[in-house]
Amino acid sequence: MAFGLLLGIGCATNPDTNKRQWLVLSDAREIRIGRTAKPKFIKAHGGLLPSGKIQQHVNAIGVKMADQTRRKSLPWEFHVLDSSVVNAFALPGGKIFISRGLLSKLRTDAQLAGVLAHEVGHVAARHANDQMVDAMGFQGAIILTGMAKRLRDEDWLNLLGIGVQAGGTVIILGHSRENELQADRLAVQYMAQAGYNPRGHLQVLQVLTKHDPNHNAKLEFLSTHPLIHRRKHRLETLLAMKYPDTRSYHNGSESFAQIILSNLVKLPPPKHTPERNH
Ligand SMILES: [Zn+2]
Repeated sequence: MAFGLLLGIGCATNPDTNKRQWLVLSDAREIRIGRTAKPKFIKAHGGLLPSGKIQQHVNAIGVKMADQTRRKSLPWEFHVLDSSVVNAFALPGGKIFISRGLLSKLRTDAQLAGVLAHEVGHVAARHANDQMVDAMGFQGAIILTGMAKRLRDEDWLNLLGIGVQAGGTVIILGHSRENELQADRLAVQYMAQAGYNPRGHLQVLQVLTKHDPNHNAKLEFLSTHPLIHRRKHRLETLLAMKYPDTRSYHNGSESFAQIILSNLVKLPPPKHTPERNH
């Protein structure tokens, strides 16, 4: 489909996953809709955490993860939201967010790298594109490819299910089970390549298992309650096979304590504290 290929859409092999994908979302469009959604998204989550030191540290580790991907030229950004929810998410185009609630439960740079690398994995594997193709069916995706140029950014956001409702509730579609497992596999790979202990990602899942699964049950990391045990099991197997000895990898518990935890305690309470719904 020459028309589609000129726009960077059509069928292509993803270099991060080696899988064939039907692309409806070009890089340029993906970057633009991420930029469009970002300010609304930040506003709906209490704004950015008011600590330059924490933001810089999170961004620096995030960029190291993004550098491991074949999409490293995207305008990657990593931010901490001033929200007590326990979550992390990726907007299309490489805008990654971790909530203060999740950050405060972590204890090492390797665990932080795990959260960020998982979100980076969703972007590298173009899971936003897959969500659209899945939602529309293959026929619909082909039609969408033909219409791609005429759709507005807001149309794409609606199609992706990314939006902020009147009450301030943020809607973002969960990923499929298979995509969650793929993001975990990619996360571990990026972490190890960058020198971070890949076990850090497993530790994050262990922390989340202890967290109340009814709280924000629809959101990314916690949409997973039945799935989280399967993700843990798969990760344990993968780590035992590929990284049986992780002693030489970096954990970074001291830098995490000095830069993240010591500055978190100085801050006023989170601006965004949604009510618990149980
Ligand atoms: Zn995920």
